[in-house]
Amino acid sequence: MKNFPSGIRISTEKEDLICYSFDSSIADEKLPLAVAWPKSTDEIIKIIKYASDNGFSITPRGAGTGMSGASVPSDNCIVLSLENMRKMLDVDTRNMTVVVEPGIINSRLQKELGYLGYFYPPDPASMNICTIGGNVATNAGGPRAIKYGVTRDYVIGIEAVLPDGTVINTGGKTYKKTVGYDLKNILIGSEGTLAITTKIRLKMLPVPEDIITLLIIFNNLESSGDAVTKIISSKVIPRTIELMDRLSIEAVENYKPTGLPADAEAILLIELDGYPKTVKKEAERVVDICQTLGGEAVSAEDDIARERLWEARRSISPALYHIKPTKINEDIVVPRDKVASALIELKRLSEATGIKIISFGHAGDGNIHVNIMVDINDREEYSKGMEVAKKVFQIALNLGGSISGEHGIGITKAPYLAMEIKEKELKLMKGIKKLFDPFGMMNPGKIWG
Ligand SMILES: Cc1cc2nc3c(=O)[nH]c(=O)nc-3n(C[C@H](O)[C@H](O)[C@H](O)COP(=O)(O)OP(=O)(O)OC[C@H]3O[C@@H](n4cnc5c(N)ncnc54)[C@H](O)[C@@H]3O)c2cc1C
Repeated sequence: MKNFPSGIRISTEKEDLICYSFDSSIADEKLPLAVAWPKSTDEIIKIIKYASDNGFSITPRGAGTGMSGASVPSDNCIVLSLENMRKMLDVDTRNMTVVVEPGIINSRLQKELGYLGYFYPPDPASMNICTIGGNVATNAGGPRAIKYGVTRDYVIGIEAVLPDGTVINTGGKTYKKTVGYDLKNILIGSEGTLAITTKIRLKMLPVPEDIITLLIIFNNLESSGDAVTKIISSKVIPRTIELMDRLSIEAVENYKPTGLPADAEAILLIELDGYPKTVKKEAERVVDICQTLGGEAVSAEDDIARERLWEARRSISPALYHIKPTKINEDIVVPRDKVASALIELKRLSEATGIKIISFGHAGDGNIHVNIMVDINDREEYSKGMEVAKKVFQIALNLGGSISGEHGIGITKAPYLAMEIKEKELKLMKGIKKLFDPFGMMNPGKIWG
């Protein structure tokens, strides 16, 4: 890279380029021109200006755990890896906020705040690897979203570098603000296509006093979906309701046995938190509801048993690769009262097409991870899998849902954007992109194809 600003770490070595040529999706693989590892906002400004002066594009990157190809290098791009900007800059206990650099790993933030008695709820299943900057850029959710919301609900301020090198500060230190258009919320979920987030101020909560973790075993998939709707309409809001279908239970038990009931049709992993007396009462109500639907409840005795259950849940993704080499992983979301209908339709689709579909996920907020199991080297099977994916999106839309609950659009869902977003809204969104990034240098090819 001729005349690249001195003092900033950059590599054009093939070994490095390969490591940054893909993400967790199977969307694409592309070598960038270079990978740069800035350590400060000032270094990012210099990289942006250098890229702009030389006609290069920029693909920002957190940990590359994205599931939609959004951090796969764009054409003619420098990958801007935020992994060396990982400091927790300020814990403000008087205002219950924390300021972080974007490269901090989600679970590290959770642990450090936990030591101080604070709680940062968004918990993507990838939390041991993914970064807060990536979470902001994808508006990541997680099991606890049902009660606590997603990343967007915790971001109160953002410092970002625009493609012309200007630094903006949007949002601020206050929990509330109604002053003009909300640029912060436009940046959240923008998948690196508008600006580079360099500092983030997040809300934090006190650690809940008590947690009860329940494993509910069902011999009928539909009943597990009905249980989700009934629990929520009974006015109990657990902090998680995670669903695993029979095939995902089997996959985990074959991969990393944790003692899940291998003969169940579905299990729900339900967690409640709050004051001990309230949590106990709520747990009793949840167990009652599930039992009337034929569910059998087991309570995690201690932290070790609780962690074992969560470890099983977090193992699904790697476990599935032992079933087929490729999973086309969609993350549709449907209204909470349509979870059972969605599960039934997905089962029917699998039977009709002969393609294995494995469903699990954050059923409590209607977000079902639909894994279409194929072999990418079998071109016929793979293209059949892609047709199934389109049908999965249609199922979600017909039920009043959306094609992505949390993974975003990236490359994989770009061809399907217009299935959900109407022409006028698309035009408004494109106008926003043009205003932020008139020359299209920020992560081109993502969201907009
Ligand atoms: C096993 C597994 C489980 C997962 N579970 C969940 C889950 O439960 N919930 C969920 O929401 N997601 C989940 N994901 C998807 C993924 O972890 C999230 O999308 C996560 O937010 C991506 O973070 P990252 O740091 O890896 O970002 P990357 O994948 O590196 O990047 C994602 C996007 O963010 C942009 N970006 C990154 N940093 C910045 C920045 N500082 N400024 C501007 N743009 C930036 C990139 O350009 C890209 O568009 C899972 C993934 C895996 C592999």
